[in-house]
Amino acid sequence: MTPRAEAAWRVLGDVPDPEVPAISVRDLGIVRDVLEHDDGLEVVLTPTYSGCPATEVIERSVLDAISAAGLGPARVSMRRAPAWTTDWISEDGRRKLREYGIAPPGPVAVPEGGAPIRIVRRERIACPRCASLHTEQLSAFGSTACKALYRCLACQEPFELFKPI
Ligand SMILES: [Zn+2]
Repeated sequence: MTPRAEAAWRVLGDVPDPEVPAISVRDLGIVRDVLEHDDGLEVVLTPTYSGCPATEVIERSVLDAISAAGLGPARVSMRRAPAWTTDWISEDGRRKLREYGIAPPGPVAVPEGGAPIRIVRRERIACPRCASLHTEQLSAFGSTACKALYRCLACQEPFELFKPI
């Protein structure tokens, strides 16, 4: 990676995800590459969900941050395959989610030789606040479709789970 692309990579570690502002677009794993061309930088993004309305917001924030850091001109390109999975969320991102009160997603089940599948997780989800496994699901959907609503029966606090996909 060139120094300019590396600098942009660092800048993207501070661009918050519009839906989960606790973590950056880089921690979320949607920034796949930063390339330097003769006419500027190219940031390669893989959107989290197809048709996600946040994609345009993310594109704008990414370009604004790079421009504000004096690293422009830049453009964004979309890489849709392979599809984004919650397994791409960084360890830092998972820690920040817990600190924000959101249980990070568990690993996605991958059948042998196949693509990741959406699975129903039957094991207990740990409360992000007190780590108790004594939790129950209140709703399959939280504030956004990518989260589910849970309640901790130990500390009584409701919390969201970032669903593994
Ligand atoms: Zn708890």
